[in-house]
Amino acid sequence: MPEPIDPLLEISASLADIDEAGLRRRRRVVTTPCAPVAGLADRPDPVIAFCSNDYLGLAAEPSLAEAASQGAQRWGVGSGASHLVSGHYAVHDELETRLARFVGMDDALYFSTGYMANIGVMPALVGRGDAIFADKVNHASLVDGALLSRAEFIRYPHSDLAALAARLEASTAPRKLIVTDSVFSMDGDLAPLPELLALAEAHKAWLLVDDAHGFGVLGPQGRGSLAHFGLSSPRLIYMGTLGKAAGVSGAFVAGQRDVIEWLVSKSRSYIFTTGAPPLIAHTLLSALDLMEQGDTRRAHLNALIARFKAGLRLSRWQLLPSDTPIQPVVIGDNHETLAVSRALDAEGIWVPAIRPPTVPKGAARLRVTLSAAHSFEQVDRLVATLNRLEAAPT
Ligand SMILES: *Cc1c(COP(=O)(O)O)cnc(C)c1O
Repeated sequence: MPEPIDPLLEISASLADIDEAGLRRRRRVVTTPCAPVAGLADRPDPVIAFCSNDYLGLAAEPSLAEAASQGAQRWGVGSGASHLVSGHYAVHDELETRLARFVGMDDALYFSTGYMANIGVMPALVGRGDAIFADKVNHASLVDGALLSRAEFIRYPHSDLAALAARLEASTAPRKLIVTDSVFSMDGDLAPLPELLALAEAHKAWLLVDDAHGFGVLGPQGRGSLAHFGLSSPRLIYMGTLGKAAGVSGAFVAGQRDVIEWLVSKSRSYIFTTGAPPLIAHTLLSALDLMEQGDTRRAHLNALIARFKAGLRLSRWQLLPSDTPIQPVVIGDNHETLAVSRALDAEGIWVPAIRPPTVPKGAARLRVTLSAAHSFEQVDRLVATLNRLEAAPT
């Protein structure tokens, strides 16, 4: 028999271990609203931040703050109950109708967060004995959703269609679900959605697309990655988040009417939680207006992406091939990546260092994210500083 462990002692020792490995996670305290120029509690002067997923610069948009306060006047601050009891308000319903129409689906269901949407959808669609086919670098919430479902969890190498096809062929599972990020959150590249959908059709599988980083950014009017590729199919289930480009909070799942009806009755993370405040749904309606009319913001964002890519002169580090606002600079070594992130900080630039296990071993990186709220001057300063730091190793 192994000795019983006293978890009270163990947790302190474990914290010391992750400290030693440089893996303790710390939160930086931000003292100003989400914007390119950020105040921080740990330094006197502000920094230029390239970290948020606020791709259209809506998170601190004054007209949305105004909409939120009007929403609070109209609806108060709490929903009071879960959606199935008494916490489903007319404004939630209106938002769902609007979201479904926006992404070209029958119906949509609004969740409090994208994490909750993913862990709620997958177990409602597949279970023990079924199979989930997942891209190896999918977001953690999709991994957790797969584990919760108890279906067999089959991962395929990143965007490797031949490997996926072989795994689908080999599977005898009665129900199959393919799941992928549309824009991969740590790499910025796009999944081959048309080919994935063809495989889903051929194998009568669901295709669940997590468009956290595509909704609002890709496609006409920001309608997302399916619109970008012009895809539609009853086998498609779409998940979009509302705390990134939409600038607020929450998420939605869209699909065929019966699928959404099924989720209302079966999705545990939808059913067993208090409805998000109706004032948030109210604010989101205004955020969708800005997104829909956001071609100027998207054009500026794309110009910033092009400027960033054209300006970098890297020899040792590697800029990953991405046309999205996620522009990762792979440095490789954990310590060098941290040192570069610190050197940027000393220059008043905030870019987070992303290390394993979030990314593969040896592929530590700076995850640069761009927003329509950035100026050309801010991006030029980032480019010049990165070029200088790479040329003169720290
Ligand atoms: C951010 C993110 C989520 C989670 O969405 P939240 O609304 O932040 O909970 C899910 N999937 C991907 C790919 C994400 O980047």
